[in-house]
Amino acid sequence: MKLLEGKTALITGANKGIGRGIAVKFAEHGANIAFSDLFYNEDSVNLEKELGSLGVKAKGYASDASSFSGSEQLINDVNQEFSRIDILVNNAGITRDGLLLRMTEQDWDMVVNVNLKSVFNLTKAIQRDMIKQRFGVIINMSSVVGIEGNGGQSNYAASKAGIIGFTKSIAQELGSRNIRCNAIAPGFIDTEMTAKLPQEIRDSFAKDVPMKRPGTPDDVANVALFLASELSSYVNGQVICVCGGLHT
Ligand code: NAD
Repeated sequence: MKLLEGKTALITGANKGIGRGIAVKFAEHGANIAFSDLFYNEDSVNLEKELGSLGVKAKGYASDASSFSGSEQLINDVNQEFSRIDILVNNAGITRDGLLLRMTEQDWDMVVNVNLKSVFNLTKAIQRDMIKQRFGVIINMSSVVGIEGNGGQSNYAASKAGIIGFTKSIAQELGSRNIRCNAIAPGFIDTEMTAKLPQEIRDSFAKDVPMKRPGTPDDVANVALFLASELSSYVNGQVICVCGGLHT
């Protein structure tokens, strides 16, 4: 059974990793897909082709999610091309890890702007349309680190904790308009973001996971599909961990 037939989804930071996995999963379930990333490049072209081969409409956009005006422009452009947006996945994210002793103001600002301000930018830009159509699903990508903290990631953890507070607040503001807003908190997922970590840190992360393996973008995409679909029609303001039991 296809769960998102006739819906249109916008996914940020989707050229690769978890965002890409969500785009493919949603397309397999019949959704038309608009996706954005910092650059429109070969990865974007390949993803457009893959999504198109699944029989849905797909288009990639170059858009910096940390830019307020850029996010407004993106929502306008996608609305023009697709007529409406039913599902927004705020997935774009970065790390600039380091102990607070060595963390620069730029490391802080960059992570907070890309990870947290982006969620404000896009949600703000889309809310009027979702209110008008009396339907909307917003999914924000947090992290277990936003719940538990992590030494060496204070900027990242703060941005991901901020996403949880924002998600719960928007769920309360927009729930009566039939707009649901939830967050996913992945644990240790195998993508380029985690491939950058030294092997011994990757090994020790994987060892700490009760399921003894890293997660995959598909593991996260399955939960995003649940949250995007009517299977979760009464789920609002929640944070679902996808972490193999790392955070219990
Ligand atoms: P990734 O680095 O593989 O992909 C992130 C994508 O976001 C990239 O394509 C990148 O170009 C894009 N991006 C970066 N800055 C952007 C901006 N300003 N505007 C638009 N796009 C931008 O990372 P991933 O592992 O797929 O992570 C996706 C999301 O999941 C992030 O929010 C990340 O914090 C979160 N997350 C990941 C893990 C993990 O273990 N991989 C764990 C918890 C949470």
